[in-house]
Order: sequence, then structure tokens, then C-alpha cells
Amino acid sequence: MRLLLSGPFKPFAVDDLYSRKESIPELFHNQLTHFQGIYSPRKHYPTYGLHLIAANTPVDATVLDWPTFPRFLRELDRGYDYVGIGSIVPNFQKVKRMTEAVRRRSPQTKIVVGGFCATIPNLAELVGADYVCVGEGISFMRELLGFPPEFDFVHPDVGDVSVQVLGIPMRSYLPSIVTSLGCNRGCDFCSPTHFFGRRHLTLMRTGRQIFDEMRRLEKKFGATAFGLVGDDNFLANPARARELRDCLMASGKPYAFGTCGSADAIAKFEPRELAEMGIDSIWIGRESKFRPYHKNEGADLKALIAALGEWGIRVILSSILLLDEHTPDNIWEDIDEHLGCRPTFSQFSHLSPAPGTPLWAQMEADGRLLNSIPYEECHAFKQPWFVHPRFSLLEAERLQRDAYLRDFYTLGPSLARLIVTTARGMKSFARTDSPPLLARARRFERRKWFYKSAMYDMELLAEDPGLRGVVRELREEMEAIVGPVNGFEKIVAAGAYTLGSATRAYQRVFSDVLQPRTTVTHYPADWKPRP
Ligand code: SF4
Repeated sequence: MRLLLSGPFKPFAVDDLYSRKESIPELFHNQLTHFQGIYSPRKHYPTYGLHLIAANTPVDATVLDWPTFPRFLRELDRGYDYVGIGSIVPNFQKVKRMTEAVRRRSPQTKIVVGGFCATIPNLAELVGADYVCVGEGISFMRELLGFPPEFDFVHPDVGDVSVQVLGIPMRSYLPSIVTSLGCNRGCDFCSPTHFFGRRHLTLMRTGRQIFDEMRRLEKKFGATAFGLVGDDNFLANPARARELRDCLMASGKPYAFGTCGSADAIAKFEPRELAEMGIDSIWIGRESKFRPYHKNEGADLKALIAALGEWGIRVILSSILLLDEHTPDNIWEDIDEHLGCRPTFSQFSHLSPAPGTPLWAQMEADGRLLNSIPYEECHAFKQPWFVHPRFSLLEAERLQRDAYLRDFYTLGPSLARLIVTTARGMKSFARTDSPPLLARARRFERRKWFYKSAMYDMELLAEDPGLRGVVRELREEMEAIVGPVNGFEKIVAAGAYTLGSATRAYQRVFSDVLQPRTTVTHYPADWKPRP
């Protein structure tokens, strides 16, 4: 039995038959820092779900990440019994072209489509798939191939790669850990919660398991920082989170990771406890002052974010534009309240009625979906695909751009905010007797020349006088904690500035699109993670 699992084909972020230039396969540059220009950190990611399925299904499997279309065809010609394609909704046309190619070149091969794309109504007929997997894919694939759906989870080696920071090309690997899938809160607009049946599906049951995986990754890659991905509400399982903290406290390991957490789940912990369990950044959905979601009831997000910042925890804060309550008169009140929370990163997505969510069902029932807008344009970062009573599509596009720009010019580049928050945390860490926090403070001390140089570089890179003033204030805030930028650090910054300026000039003339690298990963039937 041979299984091929593939993501959609590149190129991405271009206007063509299959894609749109605003549909960028990067978390930061797509939806957090796109309007921050050269300050926008650039990262590429594997298609996590495909690797999880391949590692946990006992057949020979090949995972193809970011192939070109000809590369996909070449792989297909090696002969596979099953081809699985994992995709998001905006890549629908790519999926369709791939399934058509499978049918033509390998008619006996069975086709499975999964990922959020699978929620598109009548997908099997539209793309000619044999099977459509909505929800957790490991059990689905195991059952389809004749194995029991239950499994002892093993974690593949997957992670994201930083490819450019402040205009400097690099390849820096950050291992990822998928501890759970989805979230049980059930917000009406949220694809992940409804995709997984309003459940927080646990893959790693204990904090000890997560800690052991971190230790394995440290041994293998020398990593002490990780991304917890797929788990949309890590703190929804407080016992597991506390056990992870206990492991870190006992070992003194300086592990740190980014994750997601709803305000009600975060409120069950003290900020120091969160830092001691290793959280150094967390995504919080604020949504809107005009729409009270249960998860935010009673939460003072401004105070919470400030308190987390004292312990070095950087917050990615997301708000929704174009709720029905929004009018041209009140929407800036909402955006300004968001900015008043002073997050490290901001997301301002349009309200997005995605197939499979109650919001989509309601909008369809109300006749508000603009069905003539193709799926390629159904992403939340240009124009909406539903009728809003007070905003036209073009007004919505301008509003979103202006919200991101106000965030950038008022609060400064996110990387500069990140450095200040990190420095504040290290000051708190150094005053404790907590082994993991002290270890992280010592590590920061050894690397502070790097952060100080980067901050100075950001000031040099600022072309707008107002922005330069904001970065200078952030630098002074940092210097009050870690000391003034010295001569050596300024020389490093000058070198970095030269490289960053050259990249910026190139990108202005040509393009800032960075296509992800194609990778092929083989998982034999008896695959096991190696230390
Ligand atoms: S809390 Fe966040 S992840 Fe959970 S359902 Fe709501 S929006 Fe989705």
C-alpha cells in the first residue's frame, strides 16, 4: 500500500487562475505584519496535518510540501494507491487541478481531500474526490486503509523555517509540537472549533509527554524554543498545562513556546505560572467590544496583556472587522480599543463566514453570501464575501489596511515590541528563584547584544520620521532595562541595516513574494521518531 499526501502546488501569492496575491502561505506576512514592510518576519511552514497522518498510519507514505505542479505529477507517476490532498479553502482551484490530474494519469488511485477545504459544500462532486475528510485525519485515514482508528500518537519532526528577518536571508528552524487539535469553545465564526466538532482533541495527554517531546527535540536539534501548533486553546486543559510547568520547574530547562489561549482559560493561571510552564507568546482572540463572546466575559484584556508582558509573554491579539454591529461611526472606537491593549502583534481579519461554521449557515439562510466571489478570494485579508449593511467591499478593504497601518505607526514594528516585552520579562525572571525562569534570564543575558543590535537596526531602517520616533522610544524603554546600545552592537546593526536596505530596494523594484521550498519526506510503515 502506497500513500501520497500533498499540499497544494505553488506559486502562491500571485494573481493567476488558481490563487490571489493576498493569499500568502505565511502566518506573519499574511495576517499579522503584512503592512510592516521590511520589518515583517518571513516564515514558511509545512502542511502539519499531512505529516501527522503519515507518521501515525502504518503504510509507506510520502509527504510532498509545496510542490510545483510538474513536481506533483512526477511524484504521482511513481504509482500510489491513495493520494491525499490537504488544503485550505482559497486553494480550491489548485485542489481541483490536482484531482483532475490524478484521475487522468492514475485512474485506479483513490483520492482523499482534507483540511478546511473539505468543508466546501459538495466538494467530492466538485473536484471528483473519492473521499472527503472533515475533522481529525489520522483516524480517518487509518480506518480508510483498514487499520483500527485508535492509535498511540507519535510526533513527526516538523517545524517552521524563518527565511528572512529584517531583510536578512536565513534558514532558521523552529520545531513544532502538535499537542491537541481544535478548541471546545464553539465561537460561531471559528473554523477550527467546528471542523473538529467543537472538541479539543488531545494528542498528547500529559504535560510529561509534552516535556519529553521537548527534550527529544532539544537533543536532536539543539532547540529550546518551540511552536505549539494546531492546539487552538492549549490552556483549555489546565491539568496538562500544570504538569508541564511542574516538569520545567523540576528540570530547570529554559524551554519556551508560543501557543493560543482564550481569555477565560488564561484567567485560571497567574502570569508567572504561564511563564514558568514556558509560554513566551500567546494568541488571544479579543474579537470586538460590540460582540461579547463567552470566552471574554469579564476579561480586562488591557490589564491582562500588560500583566502578561511583565512576565515576558508577547500577545498576538486578534479583532474582527465588519461585525453587523460595526458602522463607519463606531468601528474606529473598536480598533482604537484594540490598539490601547498594546499587543505585540495584531490581527484585524474581516468577519469570515467559512463553510462548516454556524456563521456561514446563518449568512446563507439570510441570503447574504456573495456566491459569485470565487473561493480563491475567500480569505479574510482583502475584501469580505458577504453583504455588510454599512460597508462596501472597497470600503472594507481600505478600512482593514488603515487599521494595520495605524497599528504599525502607533505601536511600532512588532519585532521591536517583542524585544521590549522580552526584556521586561527577563527583568522579572532575574528577581525570582524559579529555575526555568533564571535559566531563560541567563540565556537572554548572553544574547542581549543580538536584541540590542536588532533594535538599533530597526531604528536605522525607519524611513518615516514618526515611525523612527516610535522605535526610538521603544529602544529607550529597552535600554532602561538592558543598558545602552554599545559601539559593537551599533556596528552589527549597521551591517544588518545595509543588508536590510538592499533587500527592501530589491523588493520595491521586483516583489516581496518568497515561495516556500519544496520538500519530500518519506515515512516507512514502521516509522518512529528518532532521538
Ligand atoms: S476560543 Fe478561539 S479557537 Fe476557540 S472557538 Fe473561539 S475563536 Fe475558535
